[in-house]
Amino acid sequence: MATNSAEGIRWNLSDLFASYDDPQIEATLKTCHRCAEAFAQRFRSPMEQPNTLTVGILLQALNDLETIYEALGRVGSYSGLLYAADTAKPEYQDLEQRIEQRSTEIRNQLLFFELEWLKCDEEIANRLIDDPRLKTYKHYLTNLRRYRAHTLSEAEEKVINKKDNTGRNAFGRLFSEITSSLTFTIDKEGRTEDRNLSQILSLLHEPDRGLRQRAMDTLYRGLAQHGPVLTFTYDTLIQDHLTMDRMREYPNPMAQRHLINEIDGEAVKTMMGVTESNYSLAHDYFRLKAKLLGLPRLALYDQYAPVGKEVRPFPYSQAQQAILDAFEAFDPTFRQIAAEFFAKNWIDAEIRKGKRGGAFCASPSPKLHPYILCNYDDNLRDVMTVAHELGHGLHGCLSRKQNYFNYDTPLTTAETASVFGEMLVFDHLLARQTDPQAQIALLAGKIEDIFATVFRQNVLTRFEELAFSARKEQRLAPETLGSLWLDANGQYYGDAVDIPEGYRWGWSYIPHFIHSRFYCYSYVFGQLLVLALYRMYKDEGKSFVPKYLTLLEAGGSDSPEALLRPLGVNIHDAEFWQKGFEEIKQLVGRLQRLTAAP
Ligand SMILES: [Zn+2]
Repeated sequence: MATNSAEGIRWNLSDLFASYDDPQIEATLKTCHRCAEAFAQRFRSPMEQPNTLTVGILLQALNDLETIYEALGRVGSYSGLLYAADTAKPEYQDLEQRIEQRSTEIRNQLLFFELEWLKCDEEIANRLIDDPRLKTYKHYLTNLRRYRAHTLSEAEEKVINKKDNTGRNAFGRLFSEITSSLTFTIDKEGRTEDRNLSQILSLLHEPDRGLRQRAMDTLYRGLAQHGPVLTFTYDTLIQDHLTMDRMREYPNPMAQRHLINEIDGEAVKTMMGVTESNYSLAHDYFRLKAKLLGLPRLALYDQYAPVGKEVRPFPYSQAQQAILDAFEAFDPTFRQIAAEFFAKNWIDAEIRKGKRGGAFCASPSPKLHPYILCNYDDNLRDVMTVAHELGHGLHGCLSRKQNYFNYDTPLTTAETASVFGEMLVFDHLLARQTDPQAQIALLAGKIEDIFATVFRQNVLTRFEELAFSARKEQRLAPETLGSLWLDANGQYYGDAVDIPEGYRWGWSYIPHFIHSRFYCYSYVFGQLLVLALYRMYKDEGKSFVPKYLTLLEAGGSDSPEALLRPLGVNIHDAEFWQKGFEEIKQLVGRLQRLTAAP
């Protein structure tokens, strides 16, 4: 294997614990267990009698809860990070499972608090919520109450939790097992090779058109073989979702997700409508891409074909420099925080056997700093990944002044800093690139990334909506799902892209449909929000920076709508969402001009 520029870049987890067998881990769990028991003993009865519940008692309960969750977060994060860095080590697997099990036990003991709080009368709850002494917990307490109408009794909730393991969660595991064991046999350069799902998907980025076509054919033929089980699994999960919606009295299949996302469904409707009215922008790009590839028309398997010339290799140290410089140009605080990640070994970047693939940033709690994992392979995409994760890292650091309950943001705004960080680094790199072919590669890569997050995720959400309403009529057959999928995609690709027949199985391997339904619109939301914010930054210049910093510092202390309002953002306004598309239009226009140049 060729040497990798990120070799030796490993994180140092000793801030958390000394090693997987550090006795402090067990001691922490024991303390948590004891505290949870004491918590139940002390607060169960006052919580059951809300008439006599005082601000002082509630405040004490919240403080205690915070302390327990913080400690659980510390052990949970440690085992999770150890395992991610070396998934093959049995000791880490054992630790991970042990902690998961113990945490569930402890959390179950605390469960009554939220449930009793929900039972509390509106008048009493409001009086407590409005007390200035509970100010920092106001958002958390109010937020919980929104689930009031949708929560069942403690006994019912416990039964559902237990039965889900052999019900809904089991179908999820079946799906994961099938999709992770898929093997596709493909001819590459005269040899047959076996590839897994992500490896066959990566062939769609190859320059050889024949290979891309074969990869796509092979992919859908392989999926079709598992079609009946994948269909049955999805159909069952939709039915489970619809049943639970009825029991929990959610008015529509997306309602629960909107509640989790702290978003009003109307705003999502507006956003999706604006996205659809911009599909012609995608058609323009697809026609341009066909021209760049010298084709009369694009086929679906040409969508991610490389164009221009990729700048490569891109060593880790150079990535670090580019990111720090790009962040510095935005605000010195950004650079300062990002530099800490590099200097203090909060990043694990090298490629190792047994290490988890992909990338993430873990922000365990306000008492701890975030950690980043990525697999740095010396190309531009990896630079963007580091920029993305460092954006999360900045967000996680800046919001450390919040308490535990106000620390995390909902999905809709979770990607605000990460995607913004990527934009800063992208612009920085593009401005310093003199070779037009390299500029073309950079721009096309960015545009296709944005399309995959905005347009494609919108299509995915529309498909889910279609599937759910079809399921209300009857059991879903592979033919039905295939047709609904082609319908939803047909709007996006229009007549600009040829769609192969096998694509009717395109829905069948997407994990979000199985594990976290209606998740995908959050990607559209996050990306468009950032593009619009980025445009505001370009328009307003430096005066935008402090408002943006305040937004990040606020963490999840209020709803996205309320936190965004001071920046002049109205998520119910179609014009706001259109701002994001203006930014995309500019990128496509820039590429058009570049390629038209003699
Ligand atoms: Zn992210």
